[in-house]
Amino acid sequence: MPEFRTEPLVVPTVSGLLPAGERDRRVALTSFRAETDRVQVPLRDVVCYECGQASQVPSAALSANCIHCHAHLNMADVEIRPGSRRLTVRTLGNVHVPSGTKLSNLSVVCHDMEVDGRVSGTFRCTGKLSFNASSRVDGSISAAHLVVDKGAELELTVGAAAGMADIYGSLKGRLQCKGLLHVYRGGAYEGVCKAADVKVDPGGQFTDLSRF
Ligand SMILES: [Zn+2]
Repeated sequence: MPEFRTEPLVVPTVSGLLPAGERDRRVALTSFRAETDRVQVPLRDVVCYECGQASQVPSAALSANCIHCHAHLNMADVEIRPGSRRLTVRTLGNVHVPSGTKLSNLSVVCHDMEVDGRVSGTFRCTGKLSFNASSRVDGSISAAHLVVDKGAELELTVGAAAGMADIYGSLKGRLQCKGLLHVYRGGAYEGVCKAADVKVDPGGQFTDLSRF
């Protein structure tokens, strides 16, 4: 029959004090870390696309929940491919529509959006919305920064609201601009325009139909 013997706790120092290394290890195990030692996770500011309130999330996260309304927040970048059946996109990341794509009835909420294809629908961007190819958009557009690139012809049947707009190509339709509407050389704007400030470079065309 095996003999049962509890192991005595032997403190191998005459003084009764633990050796420095062992003492530090035990202190570390039983005490809270100081505030300054805590690992700082890089955060980014986001605005919830459901309730519109701002919060902070780890910048490496691909999704999170809004601390205000608990909505699931997607943070991944999305590429809308030609023939995509996914017409509704909600993300705090960026969206890209590659050239050769032809999609209507899209509903997109995102940060930056780069459109190289032909699209229609409603677009809400907290960042920059760039049209690099011609499109006729039947839904509403809102963006902090609207860009119509050189060679692109953008036609809006409902209209757009933008913080600022840079027109290198052609934009036709109602536009509400909180800041500067800048029509560059070779660019053209025509429509009912309500802009805080308009700048038209030599060689650019600006036709405000609300004046007629
Ligand atoms: Zn929310």
